[in-house]
Amino acid sequence: MADLPLRDDLRGEEPYGAPQLSVPVVLNVNENPYAVPQVVVDDVARAVARAAAGLNRYPDREFLDLRADLAAFLRTESGAELAPEQVWAANGSNEVMLHVLQAFGGPGRTALSFAPTYSMYPEYARDTLTRWVAGRRAEDFTLDAAHVREQVARHRPSVVLLASPNNPTGTALPLATVEAVLDAVRELPGGAVVVVDEAYGEFRRAGVPSALELLPHHGNLAVSRTMSKAFSLAGARVGYLAASRAFVDALRVVRLPYHLSAVTQAVARTALAHSQLLLARVDELRARRDETVDVLRRKRFEVAESDANFVLFGRFADRHAVWRGLLERGVLIRETGPDGWLRVSVGTAAEMTTFQEALDEVTGRPEGRLADSTGGQR
Ligand code: PMP
Repeated sequence: MADLPLRDDLRGEEPYGAPQLSVPVVLNVNENPYAVPQVVVDDVARAVARAAAGLNRYPDREFLDLRADLAAFLRTESGAELAPEQVWAANGSNEVMLHVLQAFGGPGRTALSFAPTYSMYPEYARDTLTRWVAGRRAEDFTLDAAHVREQVARHRPSVVLLASPNNPTGTALPLATVEAVLDAVRELPGGAVVVVDEAYGEFRRAGVPSALELLPHHGNLAVSRTMSKAFSLAGARVGYLAASRAFVDALRVVRLPYHLSAVTQAVARTALAHSQLLLARVDELRARRDETVDVLRRKRFEVAESDANFVLFGRFADRHAVWRGLLERGVLIRETGPDGWLRVSVGTAAEMTTFQEALDEVTGRPEGRLADSTGGQR
């Protein structure tokens, strides 16, 4: 191997990513198990064909039409009143978040979050040469406001990342906690931005608010969303964020020119025109999520409360053995989170039945199975 001048801090690092294995039941990356409906597929194909006719030209760098469509969607979904200039988008919310760290992190600056949380956060920090600090969540994975205040005062971050619902735990944050963070960073001489990552926001339980409600009062707050989960559009790579104009303008400085391809913009706009249809199965997935929590509790597992489309459960003395046992039975889940826990994404009724049966075999805990809860589809 050539002796390449790789950055010292990247030596020995592995590329991030869950195993992509070809097995019958894939429940490891929190995708929506339902394919895009055929009418949407047909419309997307037509929109892509139109975009293809103009591919000799660079795409619309500001993509204000897409930003207006996203603002309109957030108005319908959460009642948020946003100008197109208050919305940003990129290739997945991963790239949106990288833009945030490029603009507000950097050498000599600190990004703060609270573990266990999304494992890409430290990588955004590493890649932008931002110092990474993780406070802790409580035993039940909630966030204690006093601990947050103490961590903010001690580490003086310029970026605070809060996932709600949190991955991998599923925990949603009360708005009071987000407000406590916003209060705490107000004391910092240099100020800080606070990003609430609502990648799983559409799956939150009834009555759980979105941090979008707080946007009108906080110019340093951003709420990030994605089309990868509830919208069934992980393959299209579209994530987005809502914030003040000044916040979004800062992201416009660091983005690569034309980062959102004409094809991506066409796909996203077509999908948004069909948002009701694409989101039609979210309620069903939420119900199956709640049912999965119940079933796992009846099997006497510890199960985290979830407002997302996945469930964290444990604890296993050897979680890898359980993960492997499931894989041997054709069910791929995720070995992530605190030691002893595993995370399963909510799939179709048939997939969840297969998961339960495989889990019973592997762990020898058949109790609590719901005979009719899975729709009887095998
Ligand atoms: N935030 C959280 C909390 C996530 O779990 C994920 C995906 N696993 C993302 C952001 C990134 O999603 P995407 O880039 O597909 O929008």
